[in-house]
Amino acid sequence: MPLTVGSVRANQVVQVYRESSIFKSLHNPNEFKGKCGRCEHRIICGGSRARAFAYTGDALESDPFCPYEPK
Ligand code: SF4
Repeated sequence: MPLTVGSVRANQVVQVYRESSIFKSLHNPNEFKGKCGRCEHRIICGGSRARAFAYTGDALESDPFCPYEPK
């Protein structure tokens, strides 16, 4: 995804990976939105964050290709 998450010139790459708010959100299914956010399978599945970003511009939105409807 074409997202800026930090600078490896200014910080260690591990620090960027661990502390970037974008990476923290992507690693936390409880921050997902729409049906992925309320889906009982979000911890295991989580949907495609790349497809969500491509279709909506928001990587935390629902995976647009998933046919499953959460209960
Ligand atoms: S992609 Fe589908 S199955 Fe996976 S978390 Fe999202 S709604 Fe649930």
